[in-house]
Amino acid sequence: MRITALAGGVGGARFLRGLRTHLDRTPDLADSELTIIGNTGDDISLFGLRVCPDLDTLLYTLGGAIHEGQGWGRADESHRLQGELAAYGAEPQWFALGDLDFGTHVVRSQWLGQGLSLSDVTGRLAQRWGLPDQRIRLLPMTDSPVETHVVVEDEEGQRAIHFQEWWVRHQASIPAQRFVAVGMDRATAAPGVLDAIRQADVVILPPSNPVVSIGIILGVPGVRDALRGSAAPVVGVSPLVGGMPVRGHADACLATIGVECTPSAVAGLYEDFLDGWLVATEDEPQVRLRKAAVRGRPLLMTDRDAAADLAGAALDLALELKGA
Ligand code: GDP
Ligand code: CA
Repeated sequence: MRITALAGGVGGARFLRGLRTHLDRTPDLADSELTIIGNTGDDISLFGLRVCPDLDTLLYTLGGAIHEGQGWGRADESHRLQGELAAYGAEPQWFALGDLDFGTHVVRSQWLGQGLSLSDVTGRLAQRWGLPDQRIRLLPMTDSPVETHVVVEDEEGQRAIHFQEWWVRHQASIPAQRFVAVGMDRATAAPGVLDAIRQADVVILPPSNPVVSIGIILGVPGVRDALRGSAAPVVGVSPLVGGMPVRGHADACLATIGVECTPSAVAGLYEDFLDGWLVATEDEPQVRLRKAAVRGRPLLMTDRDAAADLAGAALDLALELKGA
């Protein structure tokens, strides 16, 4: 079976590691191919290096090298290089970059500088982390540089700042007026992205941030149309439990685009292509969708088994809708 998923960072990566576990432990599904379309709107250039936080979280999580407690960055990390940069007064210092993590950014930047596309570079990085051996293909949503910026207004006036500055430095505490995906007007989907959606047997939306992860991927020209036109069932998992995100600031992101922080309202963002929606058991009675089947399940990925069970439930719903 060919499964295609759209993903941001931590929520997407944990879910997709669970999905791979579920596939591997289900004999009929073990040879399934999983294609992941990763958000690159979080990408940022720091100290002359190209950093792709969501792609890296996917690589490290699926490659068994993630810092489990944090959900991002490398396990057994040290920060000597960052300390040295701080000693020189180099900016910014609000974005944590470990020594091992720096290795990824250095090699990515070197390969990009040699003229490789982000897709090619990501393919090389994925090789090192053993993704092809797990039948996982990781594609950036686009090879064109796209960066999510946030228009904010505070005592310093109105200005646009990089999404990472808003999210990491300010913890999404400055009221945001809107998000702008800078570069999207010139972007095209990366090679393989639209075909991965069109040729999928099942499409899954993990519980990634609906605005700044999934929402940005949906803005890549052709992606939304491919989902609308897809014969495959599209099943999503709510990132909200009881009206609040499980982690992060999806509530602030939804408020910015004027959407209520509820599983129904998030499903509404996908209304034109969504066939199935998994919500928390306790939320199910409140969720009624006109166009998609709703199921209640325990939604917390408290450990790898819980993530595998959740992914299994999403896949079961997709197969049920497919009539398989
Ligand atoms: P990011 O790029 O690192 O922010 O990660 P994603 O966009 O992939 O995922 C972030 C979303 O994952 C947040 O909105 C969280 O609410 C959601 N999330 C995190 N952990 C869980 C979980 O255990 N269950 C569910 N349902 N959602 C989760
Ligand atoms: Ca992200």
